[in-house]
Amino acid sequence: MEDLKEKLVKSGFGGELDDSKESREFFSHDASMFEIIPEIIAAPRDARDVEELVKFVAKHKKDNPKLSLTARSAGTDMSGAAINDSIIVDFKKHLNKLISVGEKRATVQPGMFFRDFDAQTAKHKSLLPSFPASRELCTVGGMVNNNSGGEKSLEFGKTEKYVPHMRFVFADGIERIVKPLSRTELIVKMAKKDFEGQVYKQIFELIEENYDAIKAAKPHVTKNSTGYRLWDVWDRETGIFDLSQIIIGAQGTLGFVTEATFNLVPRPEHSGLLVLFLHDIGGLGTLIPKVLEHKPATFEGFDDQTLLLSIKFLPSFLKMLGLKRFVHLLFTLIPDGFQMLRGIPKLVLMIEFTGATEHEVREKIVSLHKDLNPFKARYEINGIEEDPTEAASEKFWIMRRNSFQLLRSKVKDKHTAPFIDDFVVNPEYLVEFLPKIRRIIKKYKLFATIAGHMGDGNFHIIPLMKLEDPNDRKKLLPAMREVDELVLKYKGSLSGEHNDGLVRGPWLEEMYGRKIVHLFRETKDIFDPQHIFNPHKKANATWDYSYSHIRDHF
Ligand SMILES: Cc1cc2nc3c(=O)[nH]c(=O)nc-3n(C[C@H](O)[C@H](O)[C@H](O)COP(=O)(O)OP(=O)(O)OC[C@H]3O[C@@H](n4cnc5c(N)ncnc54)[C@H](O)[C@@H]3O)c2cc1C
Repeated sequence: MEDLKEKLVKSGFGGELDDSKESREFFSHDASMFEIIPEIIAAPRDARDVEELVKFVAKHKKDNPKLSLTARSAGTDMSGAAINDSIIVDFKKHLNKLISVGEKRATVQPGMFFRDFDAQTAKHKSLLPSFPASRELCTVGGMVNNNSGGEKSLEFGKTEKYVPHMRFVFADGIERIVKPLSRTELIVKMAKKDFEGQVYKQIFELIEENYDAIKAAKPHVTKNSTGYRLWDVWDRETGIFDLSQIIIGAQGTLGFVTEATFNLVPRPEHSGLLVLFLHDIGGLGTLIPKVLEHKPATFEGFDDQTLLLSIKFLPSFLKMLGLKRFVHLLFTLIPDGFQMLRGIPKLVLMIEFTGATEHEVREKIVSLHKDLNPFKARYEINGIEEDPTEAASEKFWIMRRNSFQLLRSKVKDKHTAPFIDDFVVNPEYLVEFLPKIRRIIKKYKLFATIAGHMGDGNFHIIPLMKLEDPNDRKKLLPAMREVDELVLKYKGSLSGEHNDGLVRGPWLEEMYGRKIVHLFRETKDIFDPQHIFNPHKKANATWDYSYSHIRDHF
């Protein structure tokens, strides 16, 4: 389209437009291994601007089929879903305000950083518990649209549980509230003659006609971010119809979220961490269920590569933490230095308990400690913390939360290649599953860190590769196929948190079968008949397209 910028200005769009080379280069990447250069970046100032953008693209799509809109908040997406070749809609620049906050609920625009939002909810002793490991980098909008989860998901679940309503711009360019409806409210909605009425009616019919198949398709894992969550929309028994459940986790492929209201939980007042250093992971399959019996608040872990990397790049934490916290970190690492003299542990497990009193937390830790004696792991019990900065356990959280970011910024000759980065396999299968996954990593000579949410069986394996080297590139497809096949053999999910995007979208059929993926595509067609939102992602992704956009210069 000739002079897109000029046409957008004339259309009534009141936000900022930027088609400079530097910005297009910057927005051509997210945290994935892909690269696509956009035509222009549009930063709306308010919801009206978002509506204008959608109306503009809807109007011109027929004449210019390449036109599309891809939402972007902080751009930390690891699946390649925050990049595209047409218009990138930057929500972080202006749509980043807190609308209201109280003890139980907060309403916020999508572009607000989670860290800023968290500072506000902390004043009310409340918490949005579904924050990801990228909590210092990501926005709440990205969390909603990826259906993010993190270290607290074991106890509290993912973002899907915390959004009672939202404002959403549909493909006709109109912002509306989306929230759960009763049967009577649904009937009224479906009778409306506009685009919204049509979406409700068609989605209801699609789910009703395929009700049993859709309910049966729900993955049997504690966490899942793949596909469109049709199984959580309509419940014949309760009579509740909640369209927002398809939007949460849809990666902006169905429309744009312009405001979200979150339910908050009380911020735990006391917490304590039991850390296990495992020199042999053979007993993991029995250890994990034993730990889970004690119902910890979090159960995380990272491997020896992550540990070595954190030690190697220790100075870079200085910038991240500031001098005072860095010195504290060094000081608290001294006992672990002595531990390392006995050999680097293969796996460090972090088990956190929370409670209303210090005594309660201490009791929980002591009881687990006793039960774990037969496992011959070395232990460190970190002081019971009242301090929300988790001072004594901070060193472990730093390693766990920042390993991927360290890999991205520090290892210069190789690059992070997140393509097997987020699968979930129920803990009962791990004893069999883990050695098999390690064998695949070895077979393809992948140098990879492993970290993850042990309690959910959700693992982040991040290989370091030279993606510009054809020999390394050649490994991607067969290694991914082997890992995916193994995960699915153990009834797992290909993504617990990071979602489909370009990297997992092409493999949805392997996970769900043709019929269900066909229903996903119909869902997309109902919401977005002209395919103006985030093309080539999720159910409409193909490996040929994704593969052709793997980064080849750095
Ligand atoms: C170091 C690191 C660690 C990570 N750890 C985790 C983890 O533990 N758990 C986890 O879930 N994820 C994790 N991620 C992935 C990512 O950070 C999260 O999913 C995060 O919530 C994305 O937020 P964002 O603001 O960066 O979103 P973006 O990357 O900007 O966008 C994410 C997706 O949402 C869409 N989107 C954004 N805003 C809107 C909107 N307003 N309307 C519609 N669609 C929109 C985008 O198009 C894209 O598809 C990690 C990433 C990194 C770099």
